[in-house]
Amino acid sequence: TSTTLGSPLRSDFPILDERIDGKPLVYFDNAASSHMPKPVLEAIERYYQHQHSNVHRGAHTLALRATEAFESARSSVAAFLNARRREEIVFTSGATEGINLVAQTWGEANIGEGDEIILSVMEHHSNIVPWQLLAKRKGATIKYIQMDENECLDMSSFESLLSPRTKMVGIVAVSNTLGCSNPIAEIVRQSHAVGAKVLVDACQAVPHKKIDVNALDCDWLVASGHKMMGPTGIGVLYGKYEVLESMPPWMGGGEMIEDVYFDHSTYLDPPSRFEAGTPPIAQAVALGAAVDYLNKLGMDNIAEYEKDVSSYLYRRLGDIPDLRLYGPDPIAQGHSRAALVAFNHDNIHASDLSTFLDQEGIAVRAGHHCTQPLHRLLGAAGSIRASLYVYNTRQEIDCFIDALHRVIQMFSDIPEAPGIDLGFA
Ligand code: PMP
Repeated sequence: TSTTLGSPLRSDFPILDERIDGKPLVYFDNAASSHMPKPVLEAIERYYQHQHSNVHRGAHTLALRATEAFESARSSVAAFLNARRREEIVFTSGATEGINLVAQTWGEANIGEGDEIILSVMEHHSNIVPWQLLAKRKGATIKYIQMDENECLDMSSFESLLSPRTKMVGIVAVSNTLGCSNPIAEIVRQSHAVGAKVLVDACQAVPHKKIDVNALDCDWLVASGHKMMGPTGIGVLYGKYEVLESMPPWMGGGEMIEDVYFDHSTYLDPPSRFEAGTPPIAQAVALGAAVDYLNKLGMDNIAEYEKDVSSYLYRRLGDIPDLRLYGPDPIAQGHSRAALVAFNHDNIHASDLSTFLDQEGIAVRAGHHCTQPLHRLLGAAGSIRASLYVYNTRQEIDCFIDALHRVIQMFSDIPEAPGIDLGFA
């Protein structure tokens, strides 16, 4: 149950014991990268000490062990996302690679002059730029779903953009800046009704709540290993099998071919078709261990625990004067929101605040969080983002809020001195 989450979990995460300038680390940058628990770190060590070899090649024992560990991680991820077949899971280097893969294979084959791609204003750059590159090559148009007055996705804007010209909809499940959760199943239903395919960027959803690709009925879904207690260098592209099967190969090389001749080659079925070369084996094995760990905690327990700490975080931040919090207000509007809050202080630059918070041991992110177009709409160049995971606690939030008060006080104690550059711009 959720009482075993938070504090009792922390001993599984050695890095949380780090001290920054002698102060306990408060790690609130989980939306960028989360940390790995001991079972994941041990899986990496065990893999390299007892199983390491190349996969799918050679009949020796280590090659078989490596292949078995790699493929069993694929099965774990497939079950975790409720895919119908393990072959629907393609291992990529990250979510970014998954989106580029779809844009450059399915997109290249299916998007043409005058076709329309619908994205939202809250997409991460990785779900904008690959489509811009494709649209430019093909003469296609990109349209953006707007936000409503609560800084949530505006479904009426989506409905007004959708038309028979729409070929593809790319949508983030949970915004990494606004923290809102988007109605994915409904978007998929309406998109399919006009014959469009849907790619879901679930980077900020998969680590925090149960995601069922079958129930969502999306065509593709991407996630990053390093945001879900796994290592960097591994990501997941889920694709409906018949959709993956219809897609031409992407990178060419070993492992993805059936037969190679001097003048042509034939290709393997998915997922191998999209996994050219030696894959990130240890990373995939570690991701499998991360999935096992998340399953053990229970995704519903994680969601419930995070709901509690995130409303507490939102409420405490809301009590600080001169802060502008972005995204829906979970208290006033009853919205569920992810365990992250991006905000700005009216008079202090985000990077100045975060630099001083770091000196207090607090790790938050300052910048545009790869949502530059969204920040322009919000009227800010960047923001500070505090993002939590299941090992964070209310005590850490208190510590963060106290530090924030101290830093804000420190800035307000500095006498107005126009022309003096503090050097933190
Ligand atoms: N989409 C979202 C919503 C994200 O938060 C991120 C990571 N910041 C990405 C995509 C890209 O993931 P990666 O860098 O792991 O490829």
